[in-house]
Amino acid sequence: MTQLKDLVALCNALGDPDRDLVLSAEGNVSMKLDDHTMLIKASGCSLATLDESNLLSVDTNRILSLLDGTPTDHEIQETYKSALMEPSEKMPSVEAILHAVIYDLAPVQVIAHTHPTPVNMLTCSMNAGLLVEGALYPDAIVMLGHRQVLVPYTDPGVPLAKAVRSSVVTFMDQEGVAPKVIYLANHGLFVTADSPREALQVTEMAVKNARILHGTLSAGGPNFLPTEQVERIDKRPDETYRRQALGFE
Ligand SMILES: [Zn+2]
Repeated sequence: MTQLKDLVALCNALGDPDRDLVLSAEGNVSMKLDDHTMLIKASGCSLATLDESNLLSVDTNRILSLLDGTPTDHEIQETYKSALMEPSEKMPSVEAILHAVIYDLAPVQVIAHTHPTPVNMLTCSMNAGLLVEGALYPDAIVMLGHRQVLVPYTDPGVPLAKAVRSSVVTFMDQEGVAPKVIYLANHGLFVTADSPREALQVTEMAVKNARILHGTLSAGGPNFLPTEQVERIDKRPDETYRRQALGFE
């Protein structure tokens, strides 16, 4: 199954120490299998060395049922265990609920979650809001979309999943499309994509965008593109062609 091989390659690329996106067991990746099932990284394993045996198939509806109440840590663990489609000693990533929430709302195929240093230099700063205040250069618009989501810091687990759900619902109501990039304040980066290749490209561009934004703060502050220029880039036929060529549409 080529897609599974591509997903493992994505995990290993995201875990490459030279990219500085994650350390140790940080980060997780998932792929939608059907409307109620996803494949997700097992808890505690490293993206850098992950192989197929570290990807677990889980029932997303079972995990989403946690959002109906205020489950205890023990109930969450039991629900995660019972969501496994095949018996396993391993447990799904603790952040599986965030992936399930996004698949439930948005028609995306792959989700990649990392903690890149350049992105977190901003999400952990007083200037985190600048990440979603505007667009700095045309390629960021083409690859990250003309708007992104920033979720304020929330207790990890069910409260964070509810906060992500409400931010994504608001974004999709306003924009009519799923966000490509979701920043979690004081935490990290989620990207949504149609393929493992796109997930890596969007992650890399979000990291580059964060580095540029960080640099602008020591060079007089960001000079965001005017709204009409952002809309122009977003709709230009040649940029649409470029997105298609990149496999984005
Ligand atoms: Zn995380």
